[in-house]
Amino acid sequence: MTASTRLPSFSAFAEQVSSAVDDARRRIDAARQRGGHGQDVTLIAVTKTHGPEAVEAAAAAGVRDVGENRVQEAEAKRAAVSADVRWHLIGHLQRNKAQAAAGFNLIHSLDSERLAVALHSAALQLERAVPVLLQVNVSGEASKFGVTMAEVEAMAQRLHELPQLQLHGVMTMAPYDADEVTLRAVFSGARRSLATVRAAGHDARVLSMGMSGDFEVAVEEGATHVRLGTILFGSRAA
Ligand SMILES: *Cc1c(COP(=O)(O)O)cnc(C)c1O
Repeated sequence: MTASTRLPSFSAFAEQVSSAVDDARRRIDAARQRGGHGQDVTLIAVTKTHGPEAVEAAAAAGVRDVGENRVQEAEAKRAAVSADVRWHLIGHLQRNKAQAAAGFNLIHSLDSERLAVALHSAALQLERAVPVLLQVNVSGEASKFGVTMAEVEAMAQRLHELPQLQLHGVMTMAPYDADEVTLRAVFSGARRSLATVRAAGHDARVLSMGMSGDFEVAVEEGATHVRLGTILFGSRAA
């Protein structure tokens, strides 16, 4: 379907999304200059709880990457979307969904050895390589998934024994509403975790961090992928 055959309400929505994307890109670029890490930054549009039209609107605005929290919601949306985008799984993954998750272009939420083993057997069955990020719980909040910074080195070594999984980098989430000092501590901790993963011999370059409320600090601290929902599509229904 082309834009001209859509309902007028879609074009109004698409225009809003497009200007929000442009604005986010400008802010990302300014933060990138301030940070001085010289990285490229990929904007991932987080479309969870929104319909397929959010994906289409983001794609129409030039976004090539979308993020979803849940495998089933993503599969339904994917079937309804014609835009050519890369699908990122950013939410906690249950082991019994490993097979379906292996179809994502990048899984950001590898958060335990048990999940790694389950994903690896799914990858073997499907005879494909599965790209993953190691989720690191830098802040140590009990409510957050992920390995601790102290566990990163051992997980990176362990992943050499699970060769169907390709470790591309690290993902983290900062505490909600954290002050800037805390944000910088969390994001620079994730950056050091990426260095640990590389020192363990993985060709890992992805640093996935930064959401609507904190992406500028994340980019200043070296984020290569930011995950933006609210500032692109508005707030999600509770
Ligand atoms: C929902 C979610 C986001 C996007 O959050 P916003 O604050 O709406 O930008 C990013 N990352 C993860 C892991 C999420 O679950």
